[in-house]
Amino acid sequence: MAPMLDKKARGRGLSPGDAILAGGLPRRAERRAPTTPVSGVRRLLARLDAELARVDADKIDREDRIPPAVLARLERLGVLRLNLPRAYGGLGLDRADYHRILARISARSLALAMIVTTHQSLGAAALVAAFGGPELKAELLPRMAAGELSALAASEALSGADPTLAATTARRARGGWRLDGRKLWVSNAVGARWIAVLARAPGGATLFIIDARTRGVSVERRCRFLGLRGLGNGVLRLRGAFVSDARRVGAEGEGARILLALLGEGRLTVVPRALGLTRAARDAARAWMLSRRRRGRALAQEPAVAARLKRLDALVARLEALDAAAAAWSRAGGVGRTESALAKLYAAAAAWEAADAALQLRGARGYETVDSQRARGEAAVPAERWLRDARGLRLVEGSDDLLRWAVARRGLDLARAGARAPRAAGALGRRAAALAAEFRALARARGDAVAARALELADEAARILAESL
Ligand SMILES: Cc1cc2nc3c(=O)[nH]c(=O)nc-3n(C[C@H](O)[C@H](O)[C@H](O)COP(=O)(O)OP(=O)(O)OC[C@H]3O[C@@H](n4cnc5c(N)ncnc54)[C@H](O)[C@@H]3O)c2cc1C
Repeated sequence: MAPMLDKKARGRGLSPGDAILAGGLPRRAERRAPTTPVSGVRRLLARLDAELARVDADKIDREDRIPPAVLARLERLGVLRLNLPRAYGGLGLDRADYHRILARISARSLALAMIVTTHQSLGAAALVAAFGGPELKAELLPRMAAGELSALAASEALSGADPTLAATTARRARGGWRLDGRKLWVSNAVGARWIAVLARAPGGATLFIIDARTRGVSVERRCRFLGLRGLGNGVLRLRGAFVSDARRVGAEGEGARILLALLGEGRLTVVPRALGLTRAARDAARAWMLSRRRRGRALAQEPAVAARLKRLDALVARLEALDAAAAAWSRAGGVGRTESALAKLYAAAAAWEAADAALQLRGARGYETVDSQRARGEAAVPAERWLRDARGLRLVEGSDDLLRWAVARRGLDLARAGARAPRAAGALGRRAAALAAEFRALARARGDAVAARALELADEAARILAESL
């Protein structure tokens, strides 16, 4: 049976992502030109560049640890309060400037960028800024803006991609709550002072802000990953940890809804993270192909190599356009779930493709660690680190298939509800129309092939979005 969809979803006023699933393209207003930073931000960018040039990202990767001095210097520049409101000590930067800074940091170290985004776009600081009441904001945001790091603890061994199944409990205690449970893969767990915890209260999933120094809160162990090393990720143990009622965010039972909204918004910062990494990979690949000569001519002139470099330029250009749109959606507040998922899907896939292409174009050197390259006396390029880091982007904050399936379900729902967006001209318009026609056909079909094809259509929708902006 066709699900109930409101009038919006029946064709009028569709969000940019939904418009694509229903056979159209985002409206012109959604295609934002990149903005230029104001002079204060330009100064900050110059100081940040100087600071990042001193960061040894290979050492961070090798030791799986960010030296506290690095974080302290970035904190002094304001990097941990870029996105937080001015009224509470934040810089209150425009989203385009925030994204600019994230892209710069990501080009140097994706792990470092994730510490920054976990704090202010996903963790307790983001949660309090977006959903906290005035008293909680006044109590915590100035401290978070001053560098007290924050985190989000949602995932658990059994709940994983569906945090609503969280087994961590919150039971009533005098003046507040006591939390018990074990949270996995908490980024910033090592070093965070404030942790947003999703727990099951009698009235349903609820979010609390826990002070990491509270009795009963501990980081049980560090989690080590293929890439994104240095993240300070860990297992958080809660044993009767007390949290006052004042540190509950939203009403009892509202945790899942708030978390979904927070994730939808935070996910947009994957775009500048992917952009930074893709630019670095593209630049290193081009520099190498221009310098490497065979029979008197640069490899960059070989048609196949030139085609690869052109593709890398196209990925950067599409990510730049997507980044401008993502910043605009974020600035306007309340980004739609479809475009947030599509933007994240595209960005993570683009970064993965760029890292893979850079590794390929660097040849054996691409597969070789930086330490090994240096030991042979060559200038080192961390292509293999970029590949490991980029793979992580396809898992964090909504894994590829989870997002694909969310998009696919939305496409099938829109098809069943008869939603049709106005047809757009040109090759891209035809691709969007074909996409919606396939969703309509799949909505009538049955069998295993439906889900498999629907997942592929989600990727096509993500490409159409990025190419339409
Ligand atoms: C580097 C890193 C940092 C992280 N940081 C944090 C953090 O700060 N806080 C936090 O709470 N968590 C964090 N996570 C956890 C991350 O968000 C989880 O990977 C996520 O919650 C998924 O849980 P899971 O791995 O148990 O997946 P599972 O639930 O076991 O799912 C496994 C796979 O099955 C597929 N799948 C599952 N459900 C669906 C579905 N409905 N439709 C389609 N496919 C599906 C997907 O491919 C998914 O990747 C981090 C993970 C990593 C790797």
